Order: sequence, then structure tokens, then C-alpha cells
Amino acid sequence: MTSKYSPGSPLFLPNGAKMFNKLTNFLRTQYANFGFDEVITPTIYKKSLWEKSGHWENYADDMYAVTGRGASGEREGRQIGEDEEYGLKPMNCPGHCLIFASKKRSYRDLPIRYADFSPLHRNEVHGALSGLTRVRRFHQDDGHIFCRPGQIQEEISRTLDFVRLTYKTLGLGPYRLALSTRPTDHFIGTVEEWDNAEGALKKSLDESGQLWEVNEGDGAFYGPKIDVILRDSEGKEHQTATIQLDFQLPKRFELEYQAPAPELESRGLTTTDPSLLEVEGPVTPVLIHRAVLGSVERIMALLIEHYNGHWPFWLNPRQVLIATVNDSQPVVEFAERCQKIIMGMSRQLRSPKKATPPYQSISVELDTSPRFLTKKISDAKRKRYAVIAVVGNQDAAANRMIVDFTGFPDFEINVGKHLALRHSAVASKEIKSTAESANERESTEQTPFLSAKDLKSLPVSPKILASCLADFQSSYV
Ligand code: ZN
Repeated sequence: MTSKYSPGSPLFLPNGAKMFNKLTNFLRTQYANFGFDEVITPTIYKKSLWEKSGHWENYADDMYAVTGRGASGEREGRQIGEDEEYGLKPMNCPGHCLIFASKKRSYRDLPIRYADFSPLHRNEVHGALSGLTRVRRFHQDDGHIFCRPGQIQEEISRTLDFVRLTYKTLGLGPYRLALSTRPTDHFIGTVEEWDNAEGALKKSLDESGQLWEVNEGDGAFYGPKIDVILRDSEGKEHQTATIQLDFQLPKRFELEYQAPAPELESRGLTTTDPSLLEVEGPVTPVLIHRAVLGSVERIMALLIEHYNGHWPFWLNPRQVLIATVNDSQPVVEFAERCQKIIMGMSRQLRSPKKATPPYQSISVELDTSPRFLTKKISDAKRKRYAVIAVVGNQDAAANRMIVDFTGFPDFEINVGKHLALRHSAVASKEIKSTAESANERESTEQTPFLSAKDLKSLPVSPKILASCLADFQSSYV
């Protein structure tokens, strides 16, 4: 939702916050594989930083200025610059440059990859605001790679792999790739630097095996870039991921690392000549700005439209609903216990003595209202819960839930083949007759797949349901 008190800055309700966290946690998990370290950086910086980065000169109109309370600059003992105007950050890059510059760096340390999910603010004009796709406050899955000129191609290839993996998992696509090259007149750096960088980008694009096109002369004055343009369900195109090379910012921040044969190193070349390797010197790193989702808010808008309530289980903010047959105390207590087990929480209802272990919790809601069961179920179906579990007096006594999986995406393939569920079904009286002998229960092949009919009302113990839902969640089904 939005409020007139902060136009263009969305307020996320609980389900929106769940989705936001699922997306950012998904990326955090991938960061270990892609060599990113997450950092946390300030929201406001002094004007002098934005002057150094060039934002104050080129971007000031889109930035919010912030003034400290009571800073007049006239009192003694004030820190230099304390009275300066501040700016709310529209990008994370300058902060990451400060971290890079905080230590002496060697060529052995590179590439260094920082990731940051900080909120960003851009003062979009009121008329440009639109839902979650064009906002004033947003979050990027922002990342900056500081690398040696000779590492550009490998870093771009890895980033393209990261994009492909993420979009495949999210079920988004197709997308097209567009390379924007050196502008004709206004650019910084040498033509040779540009040619090398563009050559590396083209090679990575070719190796990606995906179709790509060139937007001749469309690069920013500080470097070439690759945009990922996603087509939505109606064929409308949205720019999402971006990979941007930058020769300028490292120079503005005087970033450097020590490397042998610095002159060759800065052109991305290596040598075996011992006399050249003897001399170490400073080299400016290349900076790659990259975002895989781009704006998390915009991707959420695209996903909401794309899935229209039929979420993959892991992304669904409404995963499980437990409905009670009546509101008697033993049934309600059993439903609450099942909820805790499935969520991986302590069995105690209040004030657990031990902290809950780190776990991607399944979201489970209860409907213990005194309404008719049919009403509760039709309500849950309308809200598109993936899994609807019913518990009554007999179920509480038998420690089981009667589970309807038919709201789960592709439930016959995804749920019907789950081994522990199949075993559990065979073990329960209802389906036992379909297995020819007790020995067959041990065999994977001969344990029957669960049919649509089985999956509509399957008796399952809360523990088995918990472990099978955790499996689905962790395999991004
Ligand atoms: Zn950046």
C-alpha cells in the first residue's frame, strides 16, 4: 500500500514483506556460490561524497537533500564538514568504493565483490510514479565487483550465469540481452580501454549461448553495459538486470591495487618477462555495477502479475492453512501444535526456552473459527493456499492431519512422487490395499505414486508433512 504521507514509497504488509524476504534470502543463499560478501552501508552521506562521485553535479535533481538538526557551523569543536548538507543515497556504489579504499589491496585480493540490499531513494517526479514499478524508495539486489582489467570477461560470464539461474528459478522469461557501446563523442578513458572492455563483454555474451543485440553508442559516458530486458505476460518489456562497467568511479575515488608489471596489468595483459614482473606498482581496478533482479519492488510487481496467485510453493506467502473441524479445546490445541511443528518452532506455546534454529520457516496459518468447515475450506481455496490441512477430534487422537495438496503447483508431479509421503500413505490403512505386500514398502519403485484423488485428502502426520514441505521449499518447487 501507499500513504499520502510518503508518496511513491510503498508500505509492505505482512505477505508482501514475506515475499520480499524470500527473494532477498534466495539471493543471499546464492551469494556464497558466486563469491559475494554482503555489506551494510549508510543511507545518508555528506554532499562532499556526492561531489566526489559526481552525483551532485549530474544527479542532484533526483536526490533528496537532508539537513542535520541544529548544525550551524558556528560553534567550536564541530567536526569539519559537520554542517554540510547531506544527500539520501540513490545508489550504493560510492559507499562500496569507500570500503575498497579502506585497505591496501593487492592483485591477489581481486576480484572483490560486495552485495548490498540497502533502501535507495530517488526523487522521481510525481507523474512518473507507478505502482511498484516506478517508486521513490526501493531496494536493489545491488552488487559491485572490483576486478583486474584481465578479469572482466570471467566476471561478466559469471554474472550472466547468475542472471540465468535466478530467472529460471523464478520462472521468469524470456528475456533479451542488449549491449550498449561507446558513445561517439562524450566518453572518458581511452578508445583502447573501451575496445578491450567491449570485446570482453561480447565474448561473454557469445559464450552465454543466448541471443543478444548491440545498441551502438548507447553506453554511459563512463563505460559499456549489458541490460536484461524481460518480457511480461502481455509482451510488455521491462529492464530488470543490469551489468555496467565503470572506468570513472574508481578514478574519482583514487582506488588502486598493487600488481607486478603495472603498465601491462592496466591493459589487461600478462607477461612472463622477469624484469617487468620485478616492478610492482599501483593499478586502477575496474568497477562492475551489477543487479540481478534490479529493483526488488519491480520484480515483485512482475512476479505478482506473472503468477496471478498460482505461486511456486517456496515463493507463496500463503503456504499452509490448518482448518479445524470445530473449535473445541483439544482440536484447537492440536492444530496449534501442528502449526509449530511445520514451522520448525519449539513445541511450547509460549516463551520457548531455546531459540528457534536457523531455518527457512514455512508459513502456516490457522483457522480455528467456529464457522462451518466447508466455508473455511472455500475461503482458503479462494486465497490460494498451497496446502490445506484439516484436523478434528479423531485426527488429534491419531496424530494426523487430512491434507489437501491440490492447490500445490503441479501437485501430481511435485507432491505425488514424494517418497516419504508415498511411504506414509502406503502405511496408512486407506491405501495399504494397493500395495501387494509389506516388503514392497521398502522399494522405491513399487511404492505407488499418489494420485490426484489420494492428494485431495491424504492422512499425514505433522512431522512427515513438515519434512516434506521443507524439502519442497529448499528445492524451489
Ligand atoms: Zn553501482
